[in-house]
Amino acid sequence: MSKRKPLIAGNWKMYKAGPQAAELANRLKSLVSDITDVDIMVAPPFTVLEIVAEILEGSIIDLGGQDLFWEVEGAYTGEISASMLKAAGCTHAIIGHSERRQYFGETNATVNRKVRAALIGGLIPVVCIGESETERESNQTFSVVQEQLEKGLEGLGSDEVQRITIAYEPVWAIGTGKTATTGQAQEVHEFIRRRMETAHGNSVASAVRILYGGSVKPENTSDLMAMADIDGALVGGASLDADSFATIVRLAMDVVGDKA
Ligand code: PEP
Repeated sequence: MSKRKPLIAGNWKMYKAGPQAAELANRLKSLVSDITDVDIMVAPPFTVLEIVAEILEGSIIDLGGQDLFWEVEGAYTGEISASMLKAAGCTHAIIGHSERRQYFGETNATVNRKVRAALIGGLIPVVCIGESETERESNQTFSVVQEQLEKGLEGLGSDEVQRITIAYEPVWAIGTGKTATTGQAQEVHEFIRRRMETAHGNSVASAVRILYGGSVKPENTSDLMAMADIDGALVGGASLDADSFATIVRLAMDVVGDKA
């Protein structure tokens, strides 16, 4: 069995205000109550973190923020710190999602500062990397991913890197219904793991979870999860439906025993 326990993470993006968030959390909690061998995390909008945390208490579902700011506190209107996420019940923080990079000026340098802040604040950073369609078409996938990885994790020691989760999310597959083929995903995941090995050694590289993200749904979960270096999924659209998300979790659990 792979020594990496799968993680299925749901990114609710800017969906689900109070009652809808509570309904989704309640339904999900009951649907996954018997799940073992798979870690689960959901990242709701900031305004409902505490409501969702209360509902998920006692369940196996962890909570994450969708972003954070690197400063501890201060006059940073609109921002949220690692300690605020922690206080709201979070264990994880998604960092460098392509929508943050595309619409809010996130760069590899800001990702790096946020990753450090998350680690210092005791959160597990889920660091998103991935190439655009144009970059893939011009054969830049590996160089883009390598740069995002190296700059995003720059200056971190191996003890810090092993606390990080990576999410490989080809931008062209996010919210588009286009999923990377299992071969396309696996070759980038393997590349990422090799880069981690070069930088931090075999034990760190083989411990770090690398999630795939980009139009994951029940129909493609088993094939993706069967790949040697795919250790879970970061799910957007399908995480907004409790039944679909719980099915993805269950399918990931079924694959666990089959992976060498
Ligand atoms: C995401 O938001 O990280 C994502 C992968 O979205 P979707 O599953 O909708 O493509």
